[in-house]
Amino acid sequence: MPGPILQVALPSPLRRLFDYRAPAGVHPEQLKIGQRVRVSFGQRQLVGLIAGLAEHSDVPAAKLKPALELIDLKPLLPDSLWRLCYWTAQYYQHSLGDTLSCALPVLLRQGEPALARQDVLWQLCPGAYPEHPALSRAQKQKHAVQILARHPHGLSHALISQWGLSRDSLEALERKGLARRISQSPHHSHEPLPLLREAPLTANPEQQAALAAILETPGFNTWLLEGVTGSGKTEVYLQAIEHCLRQGRQALVLIPEIGLTPQTLERFRQRFSTPVVILHSGLNDRERLDAWIAARDGEVGIVIGTRSAVFTPLAQPGLLIVDEEHDLSYKQQDGLRYNARDLAVYRGHLENMPVILGSATPSLETLHNAQRGRYRHLRLTQRAGNAQAPRFQCLDIRSRPLEGGLSQPLLQAIDQHLRQGNQVLVFINRRGFAPTLMCHDCGWIAECRRCDARMTVHQAPSHLHCHHCDSQRPLDRHCPKCNSADLRPIGAGTERTEEHLSQRFPDTPVLRIDRDSTARKDAMQKLLTRIHSGAPCLLVGTQMLAKGHHFPDVTLVAILDADGGLFSADFRGAERMAQMITQVAGRAGRANKPGQVLIQTHMAEHPLLIDLTEHGYPAIAQRELSAREAAHLPPFSFIALLRAEANRVDQTESFLDQACDLAEHLKTQQGLQGIELLGPVPSPMERRAGRYRAQLLVLADQRSTLHSLLHPWLGLLEQEPLGRKVRWSLDVDPLDM
Ligand code: ADP
Ligand code: ZN
Ligand code: ZN
Repeated sequence: MPGPILQVALPSPLRRLFDYRAPAGVHPEQLKIGQRVRVSFGQRQLVGLIAGLAEHSDVPAAKLKPALELIDLKPLLPDSLWRLCYWTAQYYQHSLGDTLSCALPVLLRQGEPALARQDVLWQLCPGAYPEHPALSRAQKQKHAVQILARHPHGLSHALISQWGLSRDSLEALERKGLARRISQSPHHSHEPLPLLREAPLTANPEQQAALAAILETPGFNTWLLEGVTGSGKTEVYLQAIEHCLRQGRQALVLIPEIGLTPQTLERFRQRFSTPVVILHSGLNDRERLDAWIAARDGEVGIVIGTRSAVFTPLAQPGLLIVDEEHDLSYKQQDGLRYNARDLAVYRGHLENMPVILGSATPSLETLHNAQRGRYRHLRLTQRAGNAQAPRFQCLDIRSRPLEGGLSQPLLQAIDQHLRQGNQVLVFINRRGFAPTLMCHDCGWIAECRRCDARMTVHQAPSHLHCHHCDSQRPLDRHCPKCNSADLRPIGAGTERTEEHLSQRFPDTPVLRIDRDSTARKDAMQKLLTRIHSGAPCLLVGTQMLAKGHHFPDVTLVAILDADGGLFSADFRGAERMAQMITQVAGRAGRANKPGQVLIQTHMAEHPLLIDLTEHGYPAIAQRELSAREAAHLPPFSFIALLRAEANRVDQTESFLDQACDLAEHLKTQQGLQGIELLGPVPSPMERRAGRYRAQLLVLADQRSTLHSLLHPWLGLLEQEPLGRKVRWSLDVDPLDM
């Protein structure tokens, strides 16, 4: 009796399963779909998941190897998550094994048991309190005592870093007799604590209406919560989560970038006494696995994380929130190119829970879904509390001299706001000192040797940097073409604007916030602390400043260059620009002081800018939706992009030409209507990091026809000999073109 054949999904780009016999000594009845097995694969050992059990295999019996080990006693994932991964692999035309491996914490991919460690809890000893004399010079221990005091039943050791505590300070407390460890099985039950640590805010009528709609409609529904910046979307999330927790269920919250918004995360922790797990990049592999297990076993009420957190299993799924749903970081740009926002909606459907997509500037895809009635539309049109919407004004800078990117009227406005004791935010979406280095005598421009792009001048430290391939070189001293020494940085980036503002306002601190200034750990946190101290200061930064921050003392937002998006080649250029301006502008006047927004532009008469400043984002969105419908572009059609890159142009060309022929052939063969192939064409930046890039766009009327083509097409491409000379990938619903 040969026993069942295991069809194993392995972390490999090949879109197929691999057959193995059952591991020695394992009874067939012990085998279930979804368990992990360790197998030998070529020279290596891999961990994969059983995706099917079959009677027969096409592999000759003599060649069929037994799996080495059955790792799990039970399926690793809840059924719904298994189905989510399966659907993801199908939808994005990606290998199931690779999809599963993206969805799992590293240690599980490596075969670590998916069991909670025997839990150790930390608890205060009687007589320990924060003002204890033994703590007078130990701030960290004092803080630890404060945190432990909130956990009378003990704080799980696995969660201490989630509360900002270190093992060292807890052990120091233990030595002083102020704290102790107790051990407990992870599934202990203790008397319920009060759910809330602070009272919720009194919801205003719009917030109440949104909450009532969400709470009164149980089960799966997708809600678009479109709330202007500062309208109190977070408060709606918090109260919806409270309701979910009261029913004994868990909430999963996706946010774009964790490091950027520690203040928002703190609001979740301040509100609830239930454990909140934050899946941030500072967690080590073990902590990540512990958090995953705690979520799967229902030990934590709230899980907050970025894109990949959409795959966190929940024992009692109750609510899924995607904050800033328009944010591009939800789309993975390599490997498995999934969109976590879209997967969240599908997951809500699988687990029958509500999904809230929140944004002040919803993507056109989401708005379109709301307008067609697939999503339900909730609006917060007013700022919460006493805050007012900011006033917009365009500054026409045609033929005005700029200093460090700043015009005279703008400098005057900055001066005025600073004099009134307020903070000013200057937005310039370009880091470095200047975007171009030019020879003043012959016009030579410093270019990247590996990309079709200019080198950016950086000053601290001084060098030339390509922002596309990351290559760097020293600043030229002489022009390589005419040998002149007169090389000049042209235009302004954050560094130059910072320098200029420091000279012009010597008594005001200037804080620069971009990828360079926040690269060091805690740098962002330190900058935010200074901003929140409320003292007058100038903030200069990139779109990092646009994301979800609440800066109560900023009254003026200055946008140095709004023109980039007005002539972008990407059909999403206008949407992106409108989102960015609206989000940055939304940092002004969020508390009691009114806000002003000044936009420098060379195109003050551009209808898009006029619409945006006079009627706001919804007007632009409506205008763009009509344009997309007329042009038959998403969300009114469905697209996939085949990208290829190689060392020689002719290699990508012949591969994509061949791909195009194959697709045309399939279309005819299968009678597929309403599919257009556009290209191949060179990518917008043809040469990047030394390789030539080109692309072929597939555009379809229906999602189903698109997928009917993609599946067999990819099968053919995988066998195409020309494909071995190029690096190629398929992007379903691409956001970057
Ligand atoms: P959003 O996420 O929509 O930009 P936030 O949730 O950050 O807005 O809220 C902006 C500010 O308004 C916060 O300081 C918040 O505490 C405050 N706020 C929200 N709701 C209310 C309310 N109902 N009453 C008073 N203040 C509120
Ligand atoms: Zn020159
Ligand atoms: Zn480069």
